[in-house]
Amino acid sequence: MVAIKNLVLVLIASLLALSPSSGETWAPGDRANPPRTSLFAQSAGQILNRDFPSGTISFLLLDAPTGRVLASRWDNPEAPIPLGSLVKPFTALAYGEHHGFRYPAHTCRGTATGCWLPRGHGNVDLPSAIAYSCNSYFRMLTAKMTAAEVSPTAMGFGLEPPAPGTAGPALAGLGNRWLISPLNMGRAYLELVRRRDQPGVREVLAGMAQSAEQGTGAEVDRALPYPNALVKTGTAPCTHSKRAPGDGFAIVMAPSDDPQILLMVRVHGIPGAQAAKIAGQMLRRIEE
Ligand SMILES: [Zn+2]
Repeated sequence: MVAIKNLVLVLIASLLALSPSSGETWAPGDRANPPRTSLFAQSAGQILNRDFPSGTISFLLLDAPTGRVLASRWDNPEAPIPLGSLVKPFTALAYGEHHGFRYPAHTCRGTATGCWLPRGHGNVDLPSAIAYSCNSYFRMLTAKMTAAEVSPTAMGFGLEPPAPGTAGPALAGLGNRWLISPLNMGRAYLELVRRRDQPGVREVLAGMAQSAEQGTGAEVDRALPYPNALVKTGTAPCTHSKRAPGDGFAIVMAPSDDPQILLMVRVHGIPGAQAAKIAGQMLRRIEE
């Protein structure tokens, strides 16, 4: 990721010397927001399309500071679809709004308490529930929650709110009731980073760092020469015309202390933890 940062800095220096000719929207003199990533965007897009040509992989690469799309291969990224556990951070923040940002501890007993991991995650707090995407923890957290409670938080992050009447675990992305645009979801994660010092957000981001180290996003750090990412994974009902049991999602932001890019990946027919592996490989290729 140091390499990306250096590349970006070199591009800033070279592009500031040129008149803006990239076709990007950019107010001249706005030094905080120059068209710094045009060349990086072009080459990253070429690399990802060349090295990951499979039609089963969709991706969005965003510039973290601005939310601008640097490269993408995703049909209708603005059309709302089920995104599974990617909503969990926002569900947790909505819970926090109504409970003084105090999060209960919980014991996940696996299948017995409705988790995807049959043997269970044992004792979990909010960061580890994010890191391991513990469904049991989020079933507990959302047991009494309603769409009306979650909607203001969701909309505050630019997400489509859950349909009126949605309640319980569906508010944590279990099932397919809450539909959100993938592009809006990517940008909502960038907003999380902007609010990193706010209560609740700290725990969520700690969980995403833990995910990359040892949770469902561990394959991302494993793929990187300098492991340093924030990750959230999700698995959701497939929305492709050729149906699979599910689609895996991973959102990766790097570097973790000051994200410069966000990569969102969807892979047809595999769980989110495996989609994270592909996301890690993609990040590594554009970092090289
Ligand atoms: Zn669990």
